[in-house]
Amino acid sequence: MTSFKELLEGSVAAHGHLCPGQVVGVRMAILGLRLLGYNAPPTLPQLKRLIVFVEMDRCTGDAVAHVTNVKLGRRSLKFMDYGIMAATFVDLAASRAFRIISTEESRELALLYAPPGLSKREAQLQAYRVMPDSVMFRVQEVQVDLSEFDLPGPTRRKVTCGKCGQVVRDQREVVQEGRILCRPCALGAYFSAPRDIAWPEMNWSPCLPEGDMGDRDKPKWQAAAGER
Ligand SMILES: [Zn+2]
Ligand SMILES: [Zn+2]
Repeated sequence: MTSFKELLEGSVAAHGHLCPGQVVGVRMAILGLRLLGYNAPPTLPQLKRLIVFVEMDRCTGDAVAHVTNVKLGRRSLKFMDYGIMAATFVDLAASRAFRIISTEESRELALLYAPPGLSKREAQLQAYRVMPDSVMFRVQEVQVDLSEFDLPGPTRRKVTCGKCGQVVRDQREVVQEGRILCRPCALGAYFSAPRDIAWPEMNWSPCLPEGDMGDRDKPKWQAAAGER
């Protein structure tokens, strides 16, 4: 396994700051990988068999994704909006999965594992480096049923929403009274009152058709504004 120190440094660089959540996330990812039999963060082609579900959009989630190398855009990182400090590590080839939950006790016990006189945050930063896995985490072996539409690889299905005309990929459509709909149309969405708009310089593109790549990178914004 790459050293804890190196993984934490990499995670802090990717996330943008050192925080207790980074330390917990790096520990969580190391444990998840270890339970699946990895002794280093997986790279391709090994990485193709790993899927990680993250149950919170907090600091810890970034650290888990960083250490395991899973990515949203590769469909190997799944975000479940549960607000729970947990992640599940799935080995597709071996059909094994472990859900690791960060214990609430570990937050309280941090003071016992750190030198006296530190702030709670400082104590946690120190403590999570030395606290045993068994205190920091609960682990469940779980079964995760993934359909072919959840897996990495090419899009397996595309349909068109019967109401708004949007193409929906990977069987995320909803059928209501025999009609195929996208989720926003069928179930409501995080946005409301959508209205197509025009915007300033809407015919801009970063490169000229026959020019050097990047020709129009900066000035076109201003130049175009003046032409009008
Ligand atoms: Zn953070
Ligand atoms: Zn729709």
